Amino acid sequence: MHSYESLRKLHPCLNAGNEGGGRIHLPVSPACNLCCRYCSRMLTAAEERPGRTRGILPLKDVKDVLRKALDLCPELTTVGIAGPGESLATDHAVRAFEITDREFPELIKCLSTNGLMLEEKAGELARVHADTVTVTVNSVDPSIQEKINKRIFLEGRWIYGREAAQILIDRQLHGIEKASGLGMTVKINIVLIPGINDGHIGEIARKASDAGARICNIIPLIPQAEMSDRRAPGCEELSDARAEVEPYLDVFRHCRHCRADAAGRLGGEDFGKILYNGLKFEQETFSHG
Ligand code: SF4
Ligand code: SF4
Repeated sequence: MHSYESLRKLHPCLNAGNEGGGRIHLPVSPACNLCCRYCSRMLTAAEERPGRTRGILPLKDVKDVLRKALDLCPELTTVGIAGPGESLATDHAVRAFEITDREFPELIKCLSTNGLMLEEKAGELARVHADTVTVTVNSVDPSIQEKINKRIFLEGRWIYGREAAQILIDRQLHGIEKASGLGMTVKINIVLIPGINDGHIGEIARKASDAGARICNIIPLIPQAEMSDRRAPGCEELSDARAEVEPYLDVFRHCRHCRADAAGRLGGEDFGKILYNGLKFEQETFSHG
């Protein structure tokens, strides 16, 4: 497992000078167990934003895709899994990392998750040598969280409202504690939503830091889905939010809000269009509602 200091040199998204090589996202996760009100996952080659993918990558193709990606972009250091669904709602992501670890052990493994299942799955992630986990923590107050996420799927049923919000917050913080205790570097993402969680950013950072997180990425809301009538935060609001985080966590500032199937150097040519051209979408496994 790479240390935080080593990741800050090698992982393109943790390197402040943006010189840490390239990354590839494996769009292997088909389903989700939350219903975030701003979420719009979509199969398209057209847009540059999170959650977008050309299709779902079958696990049998992971090894070939990584080999081709290393041919196209020898600077590749990092394999990320960031959707289009939730990485820990199915076992696809852990299995994709297992293949990566066996075939290309030198590559950094970086997982994004909503954190609902992180505490349970952290041991499996450690077993496949996941180096870093990013948890999206949009609130640590259930009265705010219920405005952002509608429901969670847990133990075979959907749970709604304030109860779901409290369970999600507790599980995210316990998951961060477990993953960081097992040696993974934990980053948090906070989607900054003006009028909802913008007065609460320092508190999220403080609790995440207490749980073991090291670094934070503030993501401006993309107004879409149930939040399509809201506005994105401006530059000043983003920099105020980052200033609130800084006493508690390092702040990551150069996120490009990549697609779930992006590949290459940040800001460079996207090899995803070559690697993932022709992917199929398994409609029945896509549980977003
Ligand atoms: Fe969408 Fe699920 Fe991610 Fe929320 S956790 S943004 S619902 S994919
Ligand atoms: Fe890195 Fe941000 Fe792109 Fe993820 S979305 S690969 S954190 S730049």
